[in-house]
Amino acid sequence: CGITAYCGKGEALPFLMQGLSKLEYRGYDSAGITTLENSQLVTIKCKGRLENLENKLKSHQLHGHVGIGHTRWATHGIPSNLNSHPHTNQDETIALVHNGIIENYRELKDELIKKGYQFQSDTDSEVVVLLLDSLYEGDLLAATQKVLKQIKGSYALCILSTLEPDHIIVAKKDSPLIIGKTNDAYVAASDIPALLEYTKDVYFLNDYEMAVLSCDHIDFYNHDGQKIEKTSTTIPYDL
Ligand code: GLU
Repeated sequence: CGITAYCGKGEALPFLMQGLSKLEYRGYDSAGITTLENSQLVTIKCKGRLENLENKLKSHQLHGHVGIGHTRWATHGIPSNLNSHPHTNQDETIALVHNGIIENYRELKDELIKKGYQFQSDTDSEVVVLLLDSLYEGDLLAATQKVLKQIKGSYALCILSTLEPDHIIVAKKDSPLIIGKTNDAYVAASDIPALLEYTKDVYFLNDYEMAVLSCDHIDFYNHDGQKIEKTSTTIPYDL
């Protein structure tokens, strides 16, 4: 399983796809991409090999400067098109990819269903995007912080929204996530090989930390929502 994210001045798709192919060694049963195209979220995802996703992308090339990608190793819900990530809320204003397991997803799902939410998938991950929807009050970072206080388990998350189209929010706990800085973008991925073709300048996110990626700057936050400083590390070798 693996995650890629791109927020920059170039096209997101090439980075997202090469990154997913570099993460193939982590294993997966489905793959998908969402980009922000003309102020709308456009998602292409499918069960099976990355090749299947590539074939789908031949008939619908995704454009956009902001995007997220995912390869899934199913833990909750069979490998299927519907269970593939990215997942979105009902009005398709928020999309996210998740690696890991939300241990308390059942109780969160029951509460959301009581509030009238309908689920499209059997995944634990969809709970996170619908919870975000239910807690969003005009500030995606604040909503994410509230969500992280409610979910238990492991996660690497990348969140993208039409409501705040210029950035991507990322967060991690017990699942890997690394951020890279290129000349004209901030990128993220589950492992260094997915970044190396684009950059060797990376930031390591610790558990419970969050980052907000924009095309030309990045902000880091701790679990309490306080801004923190981080310095980048230069990867000293060629893989
Ligand atoms: N638990 C999530 C799912 O089953 C994410 C799995 C993963 O890490 O790829 O969809």
